[in-house]
Amino acid sequence: EVVTRFAPSPTGYLHIGGARTALFNWLYARGRGGKFLLRIEDTDRARSTPEATEAILRGLDWLGLDHDGAAISQFDRADRHAEVARDLLAKGAAYKCFSTQEEIEAFREAARAEGKSTLFQSPWRDADPATHPDAPFVIRLKTAQDGATVIEDEVQGTVTIRNDQLDDMVLLRSDGTPVYMLAVVVDDHDMGVTHVIRGDDHLNNAARQMGIYTAMGWPLPVYAHIPLIHGADGKKLSKRHGALGADEYQKMGYPAAGMRNYLARLGWSHGDDEFFTDDQAKEWFGLDGIGKSPARFDLKKLENLCGQHIAVADDAALLHELEEFLAAIGENPLTEAQRQGMLAAMFCLKERAKTFPELIEKAHFVLTPTPVVPDEKAAKNLDAVSRGILGALTPHLQNASWSRDDLEAVLNRFAEDQGTKFGKLAGPMRAALAGRAATPSVFDMMLVLGREDTIRRLDHAAA
Ligand code: GLU
Repeated sequence: EVVTRFAPSPTGYLHIGGARTALFNWLYARGRGGKFLLRIEDTDRARSTPEATEAILRGLDWLGLDHDGAAISQFDRADRHAEVARDLLAKGAAYKCFSTQEEIEAFREAARAEGKSTLFQSPWRDADPATHPDAPFVIRLKTAQDGATVIEDEVQGTVTIRNDQLDDMVLLRSDGTPVYMLAVVVDDHDMGVTHVIRGDDHLNNAARQMGIYTAMGWPLPVYAHIPLIHGADGKKLSKRHGALGADEYQKMGYPAAGMRNYLARLGWSHGDDEFFTDDQAKEWFGLDGIGKSPARFDLKKLENLCGQHIAVADDAALLHELEEFLAAIGENPLTEAQRQGMLAAMFCLKERAKTFPELIEKAHFVLTPTPVVPDEKAAKNLDAVSRGILGALTPHLQNASWSRDDLEAVLNRFAEDQGTKFGKLAGPMRAALAGRAATPSVFDMMLVLGREDTIRRLDHAAA
């Protein structure tokens, strides 16, 4: 069975790169009937906060990346990590090192002076325990000194690191607390993680982590280290490129499905497919489609995909997500009448909106209180002549059948009688029906509003 995990450190919001890592792990597991687990790496007590954990959970929830089982706190498992360090000691795969910080510094000074490697070589590695002093110690892993550690990475290929470049890393500090590197391996093993998919900033850690797996006789996971995300300028993504937190994209009103589609394409590809559904992504996603070079964040592409997802979304689901968006930005909830209006209008709102604010702007004609108050731009379309025309129009609508075809015929005939074109009527009608200069099509609005409301609005504007 495939088991993947997302293992964020709760030191800030859910970064866009973290969201992408979570998505890749989720897709990989979900496409294979496997499990996707969540582990909060909160061992750095000074930098970890409950607020950051909350923000990460909120971000994953927004993106719909559900995890199996409860989220695991790494800090809570410190006893188990220490136990493994002691196991390694008992097996002879680790040793107690009594060297003090000063001694380590002195070793490095001397090595530097002689132009040798400054990697610390502990004099305690092969010491007889009978000679051990009664003093504080750390537990170090006895790392192979010759040969090489070879990472067979699904993305990076074969990565070879000479063992003489790895020191005997500390597993347990002198105060008995485990180091992060040990915690990751023990947790991944105990959680049954089969595939470790994470940022390539962890590639070097993999070599050290493999040492622990090997010493414990545990099977290695499959590794896939994915390139980081860069900004449009090709430089490492940072604050200066704009929003970095997933929640900021939620607050800008991007639908989660569009965001998932976009994030999936950031560094992974499936032929020429740009737009796809979650089901397609789960079916298609694989480690072989992940590129070796950094992906570039492209807001235009994100918007384009979001527009396509809005266009095909289920109306009720879209409205639900829009209401969550309003809550996320602290706006008032919709009234029941507004909800019904939005649902009735959704068919014509979905077509050209790339974000929820755009959808709401197009929905203004069903959200605005009546009588409609035109904004400044729309008011320019309601001069005396236009108002006269609107007044003359309403009697013609009394008996129209209120189908799109019939309404088009009535309006075209009316425009002709007035010696003008329908195009000339549209501006004043938009102003009367929506109070805006840019709206969905006049016919769509009339169909949604119905005869009574349409005539009332036109008459009010004409008066
Ligand atoms: N906690 C690490 C991070 O947030 C991830 C470690 C891992 O995936 O192995 O970068």
